Amino acid sequence: MTKLSVENVSKRFPTRAEPLVVLRNVSLELGQSRNVAVVGPSGSGKSTLLSIIGTLESPSSGHVFLDGQDPAELNEPLLAVFRNQKIGFVFQDHHLLPQCTVLENVLLPTIAAGPTRREAVDRARMLLDRVGLGDRRDHRPAELSGGERQRTALARALINEPVLLLADEPTGNLDRSTAERVGELLLELQEQEQMMLIVVTHSQRLAGLMSRQLELNDGRLREMTNDQ
Ligand code: ADP
Ligand code: MG
Repeated sequence: MTKLSVENVSKRFPTRAEPLVVLRNVSLELGQSRNVAVVGPSGSGKSTLLSIIGTLESPSSGHVFLDGQDPAELNEPLLAVFRNQKIGFVFQDHHLLPQCTVLENVLLPTIAAGPTRREAVDRARMLLDRVGLGDRRDHRPAELSGGERQRTALARALINEPVLLLADEPTGNLDRSTAERVGELLLELQEQEQMMLIVVTHSQRLAGLMSRQLELNDGRLREMTNDQ
């Protein structure tokens, strides 16, 4: 079943001269619990595409349907709830709050729904166990390594059981062996949690772990074939 459908999305940014066209009629379909890598040169619009799919930005034209909903039809408060419930984000930088513990950071996306519930704490503990940080729950981000921070960010992205996980250069700041471990973990969790995963990466190795590879170039998204 198709859970994500990106239909003819274009994105133009106004400039003082001609508008900058970043995405040109980009389309993408993703079924439940499928994964895909997006590669492409710097500045080719990968982050812009993820922001549009992640409902953080609107397309200039075209539509995104996620889990049966067109987010463009939602007003800002409903959109915030939709995003919080349906989508997990992992960025190149971990964006953890330094004053909060690892466990509190993982629980942050649950706060919007009201007081922290027992089940949320149980799930946060389970996710931290799965990313190998069960014994670091009470530590602060400054006491963790780069890989451990990114694994915390991964647990945080999954706390609300998203249908879609968006990862923008998730291993870009990590050394090679740490990046490999985080990449494998990303895939393991995606399979276990049966979410859709879109990962933007410069790492051929990480892209190669995904079942599909797409390339964004000159505003167009194309399927990469294995003989390239
Ligand atoms: P990538 O992630 O592939 O490196 P981006 O999506 O970040 O590329 O950016 C694609 C292009 O769009 C770049 O030329 C960038 O400068 C431009 N761009 C991104 N966001 C904005 C914005 N808010 N306003 C104007 N131009 C932008
Ligand atoms: Mg980018």
